[in-house]
Amino acid sequence: MTVYQQPGKDGAKVTFKPRYEHFIGGDWVAPVKGQYFEDITPITGQPFTEVGRGTAEDIEAALDAAWAAAPSWNATSPAERALMLNKIADRMEENLEAIAVAETWDNGKPVRESLNADIPLAIDHFRYFAGAIRAQEGHLSQLDVDTVAYHYHEPLGVVGQIIPWNFPILMAVWKLAPALAAGNCVVLKPAEQTPASILVLMDLIKDLIPDGVVNIVNGFGVECGKPLVSNKRIRKIAFTGETTTGRLIMQYASENIIPVTLELGGKSPNIFFEDVAAAKDGFYDKALEGFAFFALNQGEVCTCPSRALIQESIYDQFLADGIDRVSRIKAGNPLDTDTMIGAQASTDQLEKILSYLDIGKKEGAKVLIGGERAELDGDLGGGFYVQPTVFEGTNDMRIFQEEIFGPVLSVAKFSDYDQAISVANDTLYGLGAGVWARSGNIAYRAGRAIQAGRVWVNQYHSYPAHSAFGGYKSSGIGRENHLMMLDHYQQTKNLLVSY
Ligand code: NAD
Repeated sequence: MTVYQQPGKDGAKVTFKPRYEHFIGGDWVAPVKGQYFEDITPITGQPFTEVGRGTAEDIEAALDAAWAAAPSWNATSPAERALMLNKIADRMEENLEAIAVAETWDNGKPVRESLNADIPLAIDHFRYFAGAIRAQEGHLSQLDVDTVAYHYHEPLGVVGQIIPWNFPILMAVWKLAPALAAGNCVVLKPAEQTPASILVLMDLIKDLIPDGVVNIVNGFGVECGKPLVSNKRIRKIAFTGETTTGRLIMQYASENIIPVTLELGGKSPNIFFEDVAAAKDGFYDKALEGFAFFALNQGEVCTCPSRALIQESIYDQFLADGIDRVSRIKAGNPLDTDTMIGAQASTDQLEKILSYLDIGKKEGAKVLIGGERAELDGDLGGGFYVQPTVFEGTNDMRIFQEEIFGPVLSVAKFSDYDQAISVANDTLYGLGAGVWARSGNIAYRAGRAIQAGRVWVNQYHSYPAHSAFGGYKSSGIGRENHLMMLDHYQQTKNLLVSY
């Protein structure tokens, strides 16, 4: 067990500056209106730095810088871009602990996740797109003896990106890596709840990036995000956030016919078929771990497996074993490498989750474990902690239908395959899903029948760079990760040539 020191204290891996400005044109730039807002760590509930509060004027300045950089960056070779992405990855690896502690302090997630999952994944995403862009080829076809069609990939120019607070660095990298690999300059707005870790990262890597290629403008949704999305000077907007915000993003972008990719909310089913109970090879344990995955990242995951559907014949035993597993999720100081569940990212999010605990109880769902705010001692007493909670109920309840975005699981039973699929698909969303079965036939059929962009079969919560990720239905438009992501950041130029 290691307990990392709080940022800024003796022996800490990272120290935040007392104040962060925007990062524009390769330098720190004060907000035009001179206003700042506090960044609060959910671990103690205390502010730890302040950050420039961006408005339309700052967005314009960032777009000026990005467009000034665009002609030369757009014209770089894939090899040059790949080199830069690989250098960024190396620099992140050299500073892994500092970045991970910064991420944990800003967001509240357990440091063992930022150290072992979030930041290594972010590093790998840079490396993946560094390789992908070098391997990308154009296309030539001969239409007749005298006519040839050439297809070229071209960067879009300057793109806008807006991200949420649940995986601040990983979400930023999911967007930055393909956009930069494809030759675009970027204006990115972090979430107002968690801007600081991204700014720590920018401080570490800024000497590797030509001025104006990456610009970070901090601020709030309507005040700072809207002027970016409604701006004529972006060639695309990539957004990750709530479905309700995604609707607004489409409206704003439609004014200038700006293409959007939207990564939105979810209410993912996690289905346990009866043959998991018969497995003798450790698979049953793995399935129980999959059941408890709703609490990963405090449930603040768009693909949180927040609805567990368990087959009737194994229901009582599997549920009892699952609850036992949940009872062993170690809560505590997120800077302790043994901690498995940390703090919710903000006080608003804490309040939202507590209100859903109330809603669940009022609509008659049975609390099987948890159900309350978690009170921690000492400095952590002011932090935003919730007990991992399991409700038993039915799929028509609000706690089964609405995204809570907390460590809250709603469990129901099903009788047969058809009912499982019908309940799984009875949701507005279609982002993620889990299927646990020993029968290959059931696993495959269920995987195909569930209307979701990502179905994990006999596993959950892995996010490799080379697997496409995105939503069906109200969970979004477009995909992230995978080679196909490059298409979202490039124009296709067709030259039809007669000789
Ligand atoms: P949110 O929609 O409230 O905010 C996301 C971002 O949008 C923030 O940067 C915010 O400042 C900005 N924003 C808010 N209103 C805006 C507006 N009117 N115009 C422009 N920008 C605006 O979402 P959140 O609470 O930060 O994040 C949680 C949500 O994100 C959940 O619904 C979760 O499922 C979703 N999410 C989805 C994925 C995915 O890949 N599908 C990944 C992570 C999170």
